[in-house]
Amino acid sequence: MTERRRKAIIKRRLTIILLLAVLAAAVLLAGFLISKAVRKDAGDSKTDGSDISPTSSQESEKSENNTASAPRDESLPDTVTIGEFTLDANYSNLFLVNGENPLPEDYDYEGNLLTMDEKYINGSLRQIDKDIWPYMRAMIETAWKDGVKLYMWSPYRSYDTQNMLYQNQVKRCMDKGLDRAAAEAEAATVVARPGTSEHHTGLACDFNMASDEFENTEMYRWMTENAEKFGFIMRYSKEKQPITGVIHESWHWRFVGINVAKEINSLDMCLEEYLEYKNSGK
Ligand SMILES: [Zn+2]
Repeated sequence: MTERRRKAIIKRRLTIILLLAVLAAAVLLAGFLISKAVRKDAGDSKTDGSDISPTSSQESEKSENNTASAPRDESLPDTVTIGEFTLDANYSNLFLVNGENPLPEDYDYEGNLLTMDEKYINGSLRQIDKDIWPYMRAMIETAWKDGVKLYMWSPYRSYDTQNMLYQNQVKRCMDKGLDRAAAEAEAATVVARPGTSEHHTGLACDFNMASDEFENTEMYRWMTENAEKFGFIMRYSKEKQPITGVIHESWHWRFVGINVAKEINSLDMCLEEYLEYKNSGK
């Protein structure tokens, strides 16, 4: 190979490398401009109300698994004002915990909790997910203004507390003559096995009493009419028991978000069905 030919080859290679570098830079620049435009669109749909807490950008870290993003329907409001409370209607948390999606024993159960004033509670447990506290407080105080004596009975529960409740239920079943395996299966239909209770998320709460009597109270009637306005749904209905695996619990309500709660109720779905529906791209 002559010296001139060798130089010509090197020159050609350098030109190709330079062209590829320019092309790569152009692709990176285009990507940056597109992502900037998308972020701007998302930002435009949010509120800028500084008095609103929490904002939809404060998605909980816990929302990574078993969740779908909240709906962004143009017809849905960004904020809802009820009395003195203004709430972000887009904020949602669809964290799914159930028999098929348990939390491990070493999960960070205490991660995002706030301890509430006991005036809102008629039981001994006093913690809740801090991001949903504005919604819970607004709901309870609005019920009080309507003359309805709504109280939290059992909000967040640790793994150990749930384990104690579950083992007590297993013992009750064994006292009826069942062997341990049968007693554990029977107990799980009434008290969730530790790790599988929605109470571990801090997003669910039993109100006033964990009893069927709740369904005959004015508190229950008020909740069926008003809870979705504050982002709560009745989590375990009789008709959805084959899907949720949990008996009808009129007293157990779950925060999902205001716009999401309204959508779930209008679709007549439980949370499991809704997540499947959203994850299928609807
Ligand atoms: Zn419950």
